[in-house]
Amino acid sequence: MSLLNAESTAFRAALEVVRAVEPRVADAIGAELTDQRASLKLIASENYASPAVLLAMGNWLSDKYAEGTVGRRFYAGCRNVDTVEALAAEHARELFGAAHAYVQPHSGIDANLVAYWAILADRVEAPALKRAQARQLNDLTEADWFELRRELGNQRMLGMSLDSGGHLTHGFRPNISGKMFDQRSYGADPETGLIDYPAVREAAREFRPLILVAGYSAYPRKVNFRIMREIADEVGATFMVDMAHFAGLVAGKVFTGDFDPVPHAHIVTTTTHKSLRGPRGGMVLCQPELADQVDRGCPMVLGGPLPQLMAAKAVALAEARRPDFQEYAQRVVDNARALAEGLVRRGVRLVTGGTDNHLALLDVDGFGLTGRQAEQALLDSGIVTNRNSIPRDPNGAWYTSGIRVGTPALTTRGFGPEQMDETAGLIHTVLSQTRPGTSKARYQLDPAVADRVAKQAAELLADFPLYAGIDLG
Ligand SMILES: *Cc1c(COP(=O)(O)O)cnc(C)c1O
Repeated sequence: MSLLNAESTAFRAALEVVRAVEPRVADAIGAELTDQRASLKLIASENYASPAVLLAMGNWLSDKYAEGTVGRRFYAGCRNVDTVEALAAEHARELFGAAHAYVQPHSGIDANLVAYWAILADRVEAPALKRAQARQLNDLTEADWFELRRELGNQRMLGMSLDSGGHLTHGFRPNISGKMFDQRSYGADPETGLIDYPAVREAAREFRPLILVAGYSAYPRKVNFRIMREIADEVGATFMVDMAHFAGLVAGKVFTGDFDPVPHAHIVTTTTHKSLRGPRGGMVLCQPELADQVDRGCPMVLGGPLPQLMAAKAVALAEARRPDFQEYAQRVVDNARALAEGLVRRGVRLVTGGTDNHLALLDVDGFGLTGRQAEQALLDSGIVTNRNSIPRDPNGAWYTSGIRVGTPALTTRGFGPEQMDETAGLIHTVLSQTRPGTSKARYQLDPAVADRVAKQAAELLADFPLYAGIDLG
């Protein structure tokens, strides 16, 4: 059987087995493939994992409990889980040149919590914490525990502000990190949209954080991690990078030198499902001195590891070590530039004026629209994006004035710069034809325009079939 036939056979058979129990679930899985195939997906955080990655997730590895780490489990019978976890960690270390890799986190947020715990355990001076670490729990009095809680819960974190592209988990109130930590943020320069490194240095000198966090979900430029590490060293902070969005560009050797976080940070966290194109999940890479604390992630912070996900991570990381992944990563960036240039040429304002990673941030205020209106009008026209705050956003965090677009998914589909330029044309058509309505959510767009754009989007997609080897019949 050829590999392509094998893919169709595998997924058809899987759905048949599911259908025998709950046909509505089988139908929803099938319908999701149809929907994904039909969508011009510009969501910067999404991608399409390979059939090998998808299949590695759906099996009896899921049946195993495996708390602990490779070779040191709290459960018996973990030899196959040990195999997949060790392989995933080895691929991760080799791919990123990291001293240590922890592949159990279930998501990016979980990976950040593991990292925060590891840094606190490494750095907080409370004697009670040291005794708790040494498992001398019986020596601790209630007063010791009280002091420990107070110390752990009031440490300082400096992260990138939300409206400059930072992430909720970098110390913002809607996330537990914003309740545990005394947080301050550094921002991008409001005029240029670029990180203002001297301002970051000044904020760090004044605030003296325990943790300096870099990383973003909506910043369209490279970050100089060498400079950020210098700032962290100057104030004695642990330097953490959350590369959830751009891990694929690091893996694909597009971000090297000062722009590769791994040699500069004490600890790096990531998701595995965004530009890295693996299964949904998270991962922590760190320097040797943090490895023991990171490995305590489960059960300190996380629920039991998901062996089937670690298997899929091993497959995805093996894929990312192949030369064609480097070509993919370069195309992601080339495509983002083509999209950005196509938008700018048609008169769309971009935050920072362009991009040098996988995403761009459109300022739709110039069209008289909120992000919410623009997002819906684009969706009506078959173009899937998401709204996002921009620096000094006049419409706040809910309605926003920005639209975030990214190229990892369409690049996996096979789009090149020419198709990205056509996509820019479609986006511009929708934005320039949409009129604001009577509220920040309402808008008017001629349905004939929306239909015409949706048809053009569908024609573009038709040339680049998604999961071409899978025919569900
Ligand atoms: C997406 C993202 C996360 C969260 O990842 P989940 O897997 O959804 O938990 C964390 N940090 C950054 C910077 C992200 O972009």
